[in-house]
Formats: sequence, structure tokens, C-alpha cells
Amino acid sequence: MLQSDCAVRFLRTRLSPAIALTAGLGLVVAAISFFLVWSHERDDLRMAFEQDSRDRIAVLRNRVRDGCLFVESVASFYLGSERVERNEFEAFVAPFPRDYVSLQATEWIARVTDADRASYEAAVRQEGLAGFEITEKAADGRMVRASRRDEYYPVHFVVPGQGNKAALGFDLGSEPVRLAAVRHACDTGLTTATGPIALVQETGRQVGILVLRPIYRRGFPAETVDERRSNLEGFAVGVFRVGDLLDSAIATLEPRGIDVALYDVTESGAGRLLAVQGSHTRAAGGPAGAFVPGDMAAWPRYGERLAAAGRTWEVVCAPTASHVVAQVAWQPWLALAVVLALTAGLTAYLVVARNREGQIVRLAAECTESNETLRREVTERARAEIALREEQEKLAKITGSAQDAIIMMDGDGNVSFWNEAAERIFGHTANEALGKGLHALLAPERFHQAYGRGFAHFREAGEGPAVGRTQQLVGRRKDGKEFPIELSLSAVRVRGAWHAVGIIRDITSRKSMEQELRRLAVIAEQAAEGIAVADLEGNLQFVNNAWAVMHGYGSGAELVGRHLSMFHTDDQLRTDVIPFNEMVKQQGHQAAEVGHKRKDGTTFQAQMVVTLMKDEQGKPYGLAGFAQDITDRKRAEALLAKRTQELASSNAELEQFAYIASHDLQEPLRMVASYVQLLARRYQGKLDADADEFIHFAVDGSARMQTLINDLLTYSRVGTRGKEFAPTDGEAVLQTALSNLEVAIAESAAEVTHDPLPAVMADEVQVVRLFQNLIGNAVKFHGEGPPRVHVSAEQQDGWWTFSVRDNGIGIKPEYHERIFVIFQRLHSREEYEGTGIGLAVCKKIVERHGGRIWLESEEGKGSTFFFTLPPAGQRAACLAAPAEPVAAAEQVAR
Ligand code: ADP
Repeated sequence: MLQSDCAVRFLRTRLSPAIALTAGLGLVVAAISFFLVWSHERDDLRMAFEQDSRDRIAVLRNRVRDGCLFVESVASFYLGSERVERNEFEAFVAPFPRDYVSLQATEWIARVTDADRASYEAAVRQEGLAGFEITEKAADGRMVRASRRDEYYPVHFVVPGQGNKAALGFDLGSEPVRLAAVRHACDTGLTTATGPIALVQETGRQVGILVLRPIYRRGFPAETVDERRSNLEGFAVGVFRVGDLLDSAIATLEPRGIDVALYDVTESGAGRLLAVQGSHTRAAGGPAGAFVPGDMAAWPRYGERLAAAGRTWEVVCAPTASHVVAQVAWQPWLALAVVLALTAGLTAYLVVARNREGQIVRLAAECTESNETLRREVTERARAEIALREEQEKLAKITGSAQDAIIMMDGDGNVSFWNEAAERIFGHTANEALGKGLHALLAPERFHQAYGRGFAHFREAGEGPAVGRTQQLVGRRKDGKEFPIELSLSAVRVRGAWHAVGIIRDITSRKSMEQELRRLAVIAEQAAEGIAVADLEGNLQFVNNAWAVMHGYGSGAELVGRHLSMFHTDDQLRTDVIPFNEMVKQQGHQAAEVGHKRKDGTTFQAQMVVTLMKDEQGKPYGLAGFAQDITDRKRAEALLAKRTQELASSNAELEQFAYIASHDLQEPLRMVASYVQLLARRYQGKLDADADEFIHFAVDGSARMQTLINDLLTYSRVGTRGKEFAPTDGEAVLQTALSNLEVAIAESAAEVTHDPLPAVMADEVQVVRLFQNLIGNAVKFHGEGPPRVHVSAEQQDGWWTFSVRDNGIGIKPEYHERIFVIFQRLHSREEYEGTGIGLAVCKKIVERHGGRIWLESEEGKGSTFFFTLPPAGQRAACLAAPAEPVAAAEQVAR
């Protein structure tokens, strides 16, 4: 419609100018076509003309060359003969057809000095040429006897004689143009042509040219100019009439209506016209410009230069009107006619079209209206399509980006829509799912029957038990795995049929989270520790059973919604609670022992830990409190502390007692022992045997008593007489202990070895005692072989662990604890000497240093005693070296 509307407007407004334009354009095109074809034809013509011209020039060049060759051959004839007689010359020259070389005549020119002139003329006359004399042309044109010159160059022979007789005896030296050629030929030895001349024998108006070939005397040198001049004999000469030469040459070609002009251009300046061949009158001898082809002056000429016999001629070819007419072609006119005919046709058509304009306009108006309607419809439809496409794109983006599966099922129960999330959740691609039965695809088999039950009714009415509801079901993935889903089902009517749209969410993680929450709730509810959760304002949100019971309430539920302050006394609320809660908020965590108020108003001591709860972004949203009723523990701790205190003072008293007792016993014992020993010394063997035995028992008993008292004193002094700890060299301490044990080691042939030992932070005297007791025992309780003792140390957790290993009798595991108790021995005195105090002393020393002592041993397999001591540079945690009890005890002892 739009197009025809345009056409109507075109017809209305543009037709008349269009006709004019078409006609004008047609004429222009016709003219251009004509011109193009004509110029093409003209180019062809020019090329043909140039080719014809070249042909003519080539023929002429050949003629000139032939002429020169002929003169050369005449010269050769002369050179080859001793003496040439007139009849011999004629006989040699005559056979050459005149036309062939376009010769007017062939001549022999003799060289005659003035001295020889008379004899020469006489000799020629004798040959039969009566009246022969050397002549020249007088100013009036008559032939007269040549005036006197040094040398003459008379025509001696001329063939043919007919028409050329006038030339006999003519002296070439009498005329400057000829003389110039004579001199040039003589001096150079080259064939030389004269410039244009009027021949002596010329009766018409043709220009003549002589071609001279010098001949030098045989046997004489002719290398230099002088030699040539003096030895010159004469010239073989060809006489040419240029017009005839040109005519005869061109006559061999087909006439083409081309004028040919020949110019002599040897001398600089304008050349001279020698001859013209063609339709024009000859104007020989005139200047070059004299030849103007009148009728075709506009046409270009074609020219070439010929060089021969020392002269340069220019041949110029020009087309004549007859030539042009003969070549004129009909093609440009045909092109002109065709284009004009087409133009006329088109113009006529347009005129007819214009006459039909009214009709078309009417039709076009009708078309325009329906066109407009259609255009509106198309526009609206395009707009609606764009809107629809946008809606579809929007919908596709929504369903595509949805996290939940969106699935549509048609009335037959087959999948008709399947979004990306459905693919992600169930594992089926859209291609796999579309058109498949929904239940079979997504539900475990055991539910198929139940799900399919109400489907017939849904198809009819778009209703069903699941429609319009959200319910939790079990779904099945492509790999067969079942998982919990939440399905929201709705019914939509599409083209008269009910479809179901389901939005399905994978609730696996929600389910497991719920389960986890339930588990945590049970744990929290059943925990023995009281747990309460409150918001940041302190309003209780959860309280477990233990918390409720602890605070005298029946259940946690009755406390939810109430404020935390209910568990605090008024004093606490005034002083402690707010700062405590602030600390929790600042530090996120706080622990304290606080008093809590029960329902009945009584209080109890609680160990509280309060934690600030934060959401995923780290923003606090509540407080979680964990409470333990520590009333009993506190009571027990107080009791324990009291008992410990009591024990410590009783221990101290005991130590003091032991010290005092042993110290005070030493004096009387020393007296008893001294006197018993005195008795033994004085009365040994003087009384009866019983007395001796009794005295021996008394001595032995007092000695043992002394040892016991000393050991006991040592034991009691460990805690009371200890020195300050100082860095102590382990090696030095060991050496001291070994030197104290020197006798025992020697007696039992014991071997004591050790690894490098470290420095420790210790009471040096006590560590010597420690090594001494352990190594002494290792030596004492040896087996059958000699004792082997090895001492070493290694660092563990920053402390040094020493070990004393022996190969002795070993100790059963059940005695490993007991042997460290004072007076505990595993053998009788008869078997092994001892008081049972040594290891008790060791234990006391090690514990005073904050360490511990133990052993590894089996009966019969040796024993290894271990003890730990702090490294040098570290102060032991327990620096129990109380000076006061010692001082007090010693004071008491004194
Ligand atoms: P005493 O050595 O005076 O008997 P100790 O307190 O030193 O007292 O030792 C207690 C007991 O432990 C010893 O009687 C002995 O039975 C046992 N005992 C100690 N050291 C060793 C050891 N190295 N090998 C075997 N038994 C030992």
C-alpha cells in the first residue's frame, strides 16, 4: 500500500518533469554513445593510417638504400678494373633496370686538374665525343665552358645517354651544393648525397639529388684526408629525380588516399621540400611548410626520418579527404540511432502513463486508506508481539532464576514446564522431563497410587486435596535418592484444560537443621546445667528444666517472657549485674561466681558463664547463660581448706616433734652408746659368755638406734632445714654423691656410669642426698653379679627427668608405692641393712622441689628410679623452705 501511495504522489507531481528529463537524458546518452563509438572508430582509423604510412616510408627507405647500393656496386666495378672504357661502363650499368633503382642516370665523374684540363678534354674528344669540353652553367642558364679552377669534376660517362647528354662535361665543382658533396665524399671516403639541386638535364621542375661514391687511385694510400685528396681519381654517381623516386616507390603500394612528402632536413632550420606524392601538385624545392594537405588539416600527420649517404630526409604522410571518406564507419550512426529510438520509446511510454494518472490516483487513494488501516494493524500487532516477547523473557528470567523448582503438569499428568531449578533439584534436564508422567518421574513408587488418586477429579474441576496448599512430601532424584520436599500446588486453566503448577523446594537442609535444633533443644532441656536464653534487654526466651529447678520453679516454661533481674537480689541489681552484662556485651563471654535468688527468696551460690549470641553478620541478638549450683562445692571447698590447714599445722607439729625427739634422743643415746662401748671394751671376755653376748647386743642396738635417729633427723630436716634453691650443676652433685659412696661402691665392685647431666634449680645438699640414697640402694640391693648403675637425664615439658637404673634384685609392682613410705622395707635387717627412711627422704626432697618420684621395676630385672627437677633459671613453683618452724624447732630442741 505504501508503495502505491508513493506512486500516486510521483505521478501527480513528478511526471511532466520526468518526461522532459527522460528525453533530455536520452539525447545526452545518444550524443555520448555516438561520441564514444566515433572516437573508437577514429582511433582505429588513425592506427590504420599510421600502418599505411609506415608501409610507404618502408618502401621509400628501401628505394633509397637500393640506390645507394647501386652506386656502391658501380664504384666496386671501377675499383675492380684497370681502366674503364666508355663502352664498358655502359655495358656494366645498362642491365640495371632504371625503375628498380629509380635512377635518372649513372655517371662517372673524373677528377681533372687545371694543368691536365686541355689534355683531358682532348683525350675525351678523341674517344669520339667531338666538341667535348668541361662546362658549367652560366647565370642565364646556358651551358658554357667552365671558367678556370684548380680542379674540375666533369661528368665523364653518363648512362643512359638519352636525355642526359646535356650533363656530359658538366663540372660538379662549378656549383656550390655539388661541390660541397664532392669535397665531403672525397675527404671522408663515404658515399655522400648532395642537397636538393636542379639537374643539368632537368626539363621539368623536379628536384634532383646526386649520390657520390669516391674512388681513389689503386695502390695509393687513402687513409688521411690529405692522402684522399691527392689520390682521388673520381666518383661513381647515381643521379636521382626525387619526384620520380617517390612516385615509383609509392606506385608499388595500393592507393590509400595518403599524401607523402619528402623533406631534406640535414641542415638545421626548416627543411626543404624535395617532393610530394599524392593528390597535390608538386611543389618541389619549396620549404617544408609549403606542403599543407588542405582538406584534412585537422587530422594528424605521420612522419619518420631517413638517413642515407650523409643526408637526413623526413618523410611525412598525411591523409587526404578521400582516405578519410573511405574509412568512415557507420557504427557511430547506428549507436546514435538506437539510443534515440529508445529515448523516443521511453518518452512515449511516460506520456501514456501520464494520461493514466487520474485513474491511478483514484485507485491509489483507495489503496492508501486500506494501506493505512493495515499499517496501523501491523504496528499494533508488532507492539503486542514485542510486549508479549518481553513478558515471556521476564517470565523466563523469573522462572530461570527461581531457587525453587517450578513445574507444570497438563491434564494428562505429563510435565509441560520444567525450570532450571527443577533440573538442579531433581537431576532431570528439561528435555528428559518434558512430556513424562510427573508422578512416575518425581515421586517414590510407593506413593504413586496415593498421588494419582484424586487426579481424575482435578482434570475435571481443577480441584483436589493438595491444590492450594503447601505440604511436605518425599521426592525422588534422577539417581533414585529420596529427599524431603515442600510442594505448593495450584491449578491454572490453559485453553480450557486444567493444569497443575507446582512450586517445589528441596527442604533437606531445613529438615536436618530442624532435627539438629530438636536435638539441641532436648540436650538443652535435659542438661544438668541450668541454661537460660534471653534477648539483649534481658527478657527470657528459653529456660531449661535444670535452671528452673535450681531457682525453685516448677518448669522453664513459666519463666519465659520474664526478666533476668528476677534472679538477683536488690543489692546485686544495684551494684554487680549491670557491669557484668556490659562486660559480656563487650567481651562476648564472661564467667563469675555469683549469688542467685530462688523463688522463695533464699539465695544460693552459682557458677555463671554468660555468652553473647551473634547472628551470621556478627550482630549480637541475645545472651545465653549457663548456671551451676555450687553451694555444695563451695561448702566442700571450705571444709577441704580447713582440713588442709589443720593437716598442715599437724604436719608441722609432727615434723617439729620428730625433729625435737630425734634431736633430744641423740644426747642420751650417745651416752648409752658410749657407756655400752666402754663396758664392751673393759669387760669383754672377763665376764661369762652370756655377759659378752648381752654387751654385744647392747652395743649393736645403740649403734642402730643412732643410725635410726640420724636418718629420722635427716627426714625431718628436709622440710625444715632446706636451703634456698639455686642453679645446681647436676654433674658436680653426682660426683659428690659418688665420693660419699666411695667405700660401698668399692666393696661391692659396683660400676656407676652416667650421661651428661644438666644444671637444675635446686637445694644442692638435698640433691646430693637424693642421688646418694638412690645410688646407695642400687648398689646395696644388687643381684648376683656386680652392681651396674647408670644415671641419665632428659628434658620433658621444660623439666628435667633424671633416672637411676640398676641391675639389682628389682621390686614387685605392688610395692612401687609403698617403698616411698617411711620405715617401709621389703627385706629383713639380716638380708639387707637399712632403716626404711631413705626413699621417704628422697620423696620429700623431690616434692619440696615441686617434682615427683616413681619407679619402673620387676622383680629380678633391676629397677629404674625417676624423679623430676626444675631446670636452672626457673624458680620452682614450690619453694617451701620455711625458716621459722626450723628456728622454732631448734629453739625447742635446745
Ligand atoms: P632401706 O634402704 O633403709 O631399707 P629405703 O627406704 O631406702 O630403706 O628402701 C625401702 C625398701 O625399698 C628397701 O628396704 C628395699 O626393699 C626397697 N628398695 C629400695 N631401693 C631398691 C633397689 N634399688 N632395688 C631393690 N629394692 C629396693
